[in-house]
Amino acid sequence: MSKVYFIDFHTHARQNIFQKLEILLEKAGFDQMDMEQKFVAIKMHFGEPGNLAYIRPNFVAPVAKKIRSKGGFPYLTDANTLYKGGRSNAVDHLQAAHANGFNYPTTGCDVIIADGIKGTDYREIEINQKHCKTAKVGSAVADADVLISMAHFKGHEMAGIGGTLKNVGMGSGAVGGKLEMHSDASPVINRSHCTGCEVCVENCAHDAIHLDEESIATIDYDKCVGCGQCIAVCRYDAPQPASDSEFMQEKMVEYAWAILKDKPAFHISFISDVSPQCDCWGFNDIPLVQNIGILASTDPVALDRACTDLVNEAPALPNSQIGKTWKPGDDKFNLVFPKISWKKGLDYAEKLGLGEQKYELIKVG
Ligand code: SF4
Ligand code: SF4
Repeated sequence: MSKVYFIDFHTHARQNIFQKLEILLEKAGFDQMDMEQKFVAIKMHFGEPGNLAYIRPNFVAPVAKKIRSKGGFPYLTDANTLYKGGRSNAVDHLQAAHANGFNYPTTGCDVIIADGIKGTDYREIEINQKHCKTAKVGSAVADADVLISMAHFKGHEMAGIGGTLKNVGMGSGAVGGKLEMHSDASPVINRSHCTGCEVCVENCAHDAIHLDEESIATIDYDKCVGCGQCIAVCRYDAPQPASDSEFMQEKMVEYAWAILKDKPAFHISFISDVSPQCDCWGFNDIPLVQNIGILASTDPVALDRACTDLVNEAPALPNSQIGKTWKPGDDKFNLVFPKISWKKGLDYAEKLGLGEQKYELIKVG
């Protein structure tokens, strides 16, 4: 059974959250990792401009300091996005990272955008899995000797949950890799929900969604890359994930496997500001639950499962999206995304040997 270590956010005058984070890292085995003369990628999400749910950059500083003290060379990294926004090329992405506080003075290390200026700087890793024969992984992740994942745990419109497997698998994919992972997941429009407001039209980076003669959104599937942005921006739930979003989850897991199969890795996950949707969107709604804590493990599957369970065990915030409908025992992510099963991704990850869903939760600090 995998071990998942956990600190809550309670602090007092003699122990602040950074001191608790130090204890978490130590207990979870961070200090045992060999980083001497190694390039250590800290993979995280710098937050889409307009979104404030991402992990505070202050949390990176103690991690980077520890890596340096062990003789490693830390850097922060993430790959460019598929969709229109503030992180679709390295110039905008760096600007977004700096605006959100991810810079040397705050974190103690620099940012390297994983797949370069236009998303074309990647390594093609042969994996020969069910869906992907190769994985196009951003070079700054693929070339790292050691990977530290710092993930913000929240909901996700295509995978149900967005945690460590998504941070590593989807997040490290170069633009072409992200395209491959999304290619079976084009949404369908529920015509009775559509008001013709055109918010989706304005937000589709691929000119794939327009209003038809009845002023209802319609998708051109020759152009749609399945990025899910229309799902995120529509306030009327008209675009809905296609049933084969399961394929997207499985491909994302195959990418995570490509990255982790022969790279030492350590995973940290923050259950704070648990927004219903991903940090990829330029907004974040009221959290589903109160802030819970920080978890760490060398098993990404156990870590995602533990985070999911902790969020599901907590009471829903009454003013959140699910506050009026939630009852104890409900799966919160399923309430937000009724057509998506987050478990599919975890089951497939377990099948590939990335980790196990049975875990022992060990509270420290
Ligand atoms: S699908 Fe949603 S965002 Fe697009 S036009 Fe219809 S109601 Fe507006
Ligand atoms: S139609 Fe929706 S899923 Fe398809 S490319 Fe446009 S925003 Fe992305």
